[in-house]
Amino acid sequence: MSTFKAPKGTYDLIPPYSAKYLAVRDAISGPLRLSGYGYVETPGFEDVDLFARGVGESTDIVTKEMYTLTTKGGANLALRPEGTASVLRAALEANLHKAGGLPVKLWYSGSYYRYERPQKGRYRHFSQVGAEAIGAEDPALDAELIILADQAYRTLGLRNFRILLNSLGDQECRPVYREALQTFLRGLDLDEETVRRAEINPLRVLDDKRPEVQKQLAGAPMLRAYLCDACKAYHEEVRALITAAGVTFEDDEKLVRGLDYYTRTTFEFVHDGLGSQSAVGGGGRYDGLSEMIGGPALPSVGWALGVDRTVLALEAEGVELDIPAATSVFAVALGEAKPVLFGLVTELRKSGIAADISYGGKGLKGAMKDANRSGARFAVVAGDRDLAEGVVQLKDMESGEQSPVALAEVAEVLRAKLA
Ligand code: AMP
Repeated sequence: MSTFKAPKGTYDLIPPYSAKYLAVRDAISGPLRLSGYGYVETPGFEDVDLFARGVGESTDIVTKEMYTLTTKGGANLALRPEGTASVLRAALEANLHKAGGLPVKLWYSGSYYRYERPQKGRYRHFSQVGAEAIGAEDPALDAELIILADQAYRTLGLRNFRILLNSLGDQECRPVYREALQTFLRGLDLDEETVRRAEINPLRVLDDKRPEVQKQLAGAPMLRAYLCDACKAYHEEVRALITAAGVTFEDDEKLVRGLDYYTRTTFEFVHDGLGSQSAVGGGGRYDGLSEMIGGPALPSVGWALGVDRTVLALEAEGVELDIPAATSVFAVALGEAKPVLFGLVTELRKSGIAADISYGGKGLKGAMKDANRSGARFAVVAGDRDLAEGVVQLKDMESGEQSPVALAEVAEVLRAKLA
């Protein structure tokens, strides 16, 4: 072991386990790529003010969880704690909203950083796949994103997840509700920090998980009763479109989420096998965010699904992903056969067959061990005598059967057998 360890709250993805992460990222991005979303990649760090303004000055993410740094040049940067603000910043900077029709639909995949108290399912470095539809106010977009996330989870084989749905209202109705909620909260017996939160962002108090707070919240005014007609109609349409797609969801009046930029549609995907860190993904509409970071009015909606927690959810449900073995053909070269089989392996790889060869001058026993370990379907074994006869031994690793095949034909035979 080296003197160093992965930093607290982080972990390494090691084969073969790491293959699950790739499969999850593929499964989440697959439906997006079929639905008009283009891939976007942004830097791992941004101007700290992008998040302060975008995510919200009073949120846990900004006040407690950002990794910030000052560069030698004096710039104040933060490792990205989430994707939406960066993706919107990139879209605005590239003028994507002026380039073609709206919405601009983008998807991304990457690492995010939050200085949180680590526990199972909550890390300081984690991985998300996200999607944003920028510049259009249309309930069909909100519905599309929820349906695509549902499809991704189902394709992976997840069943025990639930979709929680709420509307947070807009600039017209939310302030009225906010005031009513604040008046209610001022009458409660809350700790200092919660009192402060109630003044800055009272909706987030509803999200407080502590039982002593939840008990006092019984009887709090609910946003549903304050939604304006436009927000009500919008929400009903989102609900109808999701229902028509056969996706089930639960209305959750208390769902507010920890980021300030959400308006109207808000949703979360929770998995019941994960204990306290049950949210596997979440998102919503953020109609005001573009203006908050200095752009034009661009109503938008998006989500981010956590890859780490999706893998944990698959494990909790006992779902085994159908991940093909990393290697299909393994070459075992003895004596002078190495360059010939090395050439064969190169040719197979070029034609898209996963092939590998034993390295380090091992004998037959050691090299066959490598072949077994690789999980390959076939082994190609050859020594000096085989080469003299112009053949290789083709071994079916499942049945154990072995037969000679002409060297000139083995690539073709393998392609046919693996097709
Ligand atoms: P959020 O941006 O907080 O809405 O998070 C979206 C998703 O990212 C969550 O539902 C989680 O699956 C995942 N996530 C957020 N924070 C963490 C974390 N600290 N560790 C692991 N996954 C996380």
